[in-house]
Amino acid sequence: MEFHGWGRYPRIEADAAFPLTPSECAGVVQRADSLIARGLGRSYGDSSLASHLLDTHRLDHFLAFDESTGALTCAAGASLDEILRLCVPRGWFLPVTPGTRFVTLGGAIASDVHGKNHHVDGSFGDHVAGMELLLGNGERVVASRTENPDLFHATCGGMGLTGVILTATLSLRPIRSSDIIETTIKAPDLDAILAAFEENAAAPYSVAWIDCLARGRQLGRSLLMLGEHAGDGPLTVQAAGALPVPFDMPAGLLNHATIRTFNTLYYGKALHARHTRRIAFEPFFYPLDKLAHWNRLYGRPGFVQYQFVLPADAGAAGLRDVLERIAASGRGSFLAVLKVFGKGNANLLSFPRGGFTLALDFKAESAAFQLMDELDKIVLGYGGRLYLAKDARMSEATFKAGYPRWQEFEEVRGRYHAIGKFASIQSRRLGLQ
Ligand SMILES: Cc1cc2nc3c(=O)[nH]c(=O)nc-3n(C[C@H](O)[C@H](O)[C@H](O)COP(=O)(O)OP(=O)(O)OC[C@H]3O[C@@H](n4cnc5c(N)ncnc54)[C@H](O)[C@@H]3O)c2cc1C
Repeated sequence: MEFHGWGRYPRIEADAAFPLTPSECAGVVQRADSLIARGLGRSYGDSSLASHLLDTHRLDHFLAFDESTGALTCAAGASLDEILRLCVPRGWFLPVTPGTRFVTLGGAIASDVHGKNHHVDGSFGDHVAGMELLLGNGERVVASRTENPDLFHATCGGMGLTGVILTATLSLRPIRSSDIIETTIKAPDLDAILAAFEENAAAPYSVAWIDCLARGRQLGRSLLMLGEHAGDGPLTVQAAGALPVPFDMPAGLLNHATIRTFNTLYYGKALHARHTRRIAFEPFFYPLDKLAHWNRLYGRPGFVQYQFVLPADAGAAGLRDVLERIAASGRGSFLAVLKVFGKGNANLLSFPRGGFTLALDFKAESAAFQLMDELDKIVLGYGGRLYLAKDARMSEATFKAGYPRWQEFEEVRGRYHAIGKFASIQSRRLGLQ
């Protein structure tokens, strides 16, 4: 079968097992020389690709839910969508959520995903009380902050390279309404958007859309969206994915001119400098889920997402360098999302660290790969790093410079029988064993 990540680059032929129970998983792991777990394939690049895949999406049952504390235990193949449909009507919400609800619990832990609230709540793994893992020798072990803590901190953010997460317990957050009070603030340039983030540092959720083709005085013009849970109201969940992109779009559809037009219209659609409205949580957290298969917009060649973080002190200067380089190349990104991160955590390969993170999409073509190689140098020069869940092309040297704890990570993998057994196309490219 053909497999790919959300960016549809690269594509590979692989065989996949679809176990229904932990003991079937153990059989798959014991039979394979080497394999990698896969959730819903929403990582963009090659982190869930290998010649042998253990697809977890049928391991999706709920095991326990304490409605008085919000502690939820379920199998790792359950999706955030399924969790929301269970918990929102009962007054509970995900503590951290990425920009799509179609990821599995296991995938969210393995990438230690972040949301629009990293600056106040940290990343997904910070809300995981513990998990059960299947190791490379077929043994099942618990990992938490107190039991096998080295394995816990290597697994949260460890991209499936320590073992297969079978179940996990997540601490949900209480809500009194499924609605969000959203405030949009228009920022005419980079200094204005960074100042707006700082002024709103206490907002529970914040994210900015940035026009990466704007140049000169308009460089960095953005819309900042702030959000908080409404204090009362309905507790409902809407169905997702109504409008499909039915087939691959012509590869030239997203070009400099169409992206510039989109950006001008999108920025212009915010008529006021500041505007507040009440909306359901779905369009606030998951605007892209409305368009099923939107990844076909880039056509058959697919696309690469480039997401980096720069330390806070590099902030304005670093972002300016990156944005100027992109604007000069004319290779605009259809989506360009800027967020602020709070402090990093103790996980060995987790991406977030205090500073700013920018995510950009580029069509998979040679000029874009050259541009990204140049951006890597700027990012590393400012002490930043790239996000593994989005990556399909970074070099081993770029990875090792950005993730200085990679050797500790390998030592933990050695202690828990993971070396050689769990490997992806990405991990081989990055020089992990
Ligand atoms: C539209 C969109 C928006 C996104 N927004 C964000 C965002 O805001 N923030 C963010 O952080 N990420 C974001 N992402 C990325 C996404 O959240 C992560 O890539 C996530 O890991 C995908 O989960 P998945 O279940 O699809 O896993 P896959 O893509 O299938 O796998 C991802 C990694 O998890 C590992 N894995 C999966 N299941 C298991 C398991 N049971 N045990 C061990 N390892 C496992 C895989 O080996 C692989 O390394 C976004 C993705 C999309 C498509």
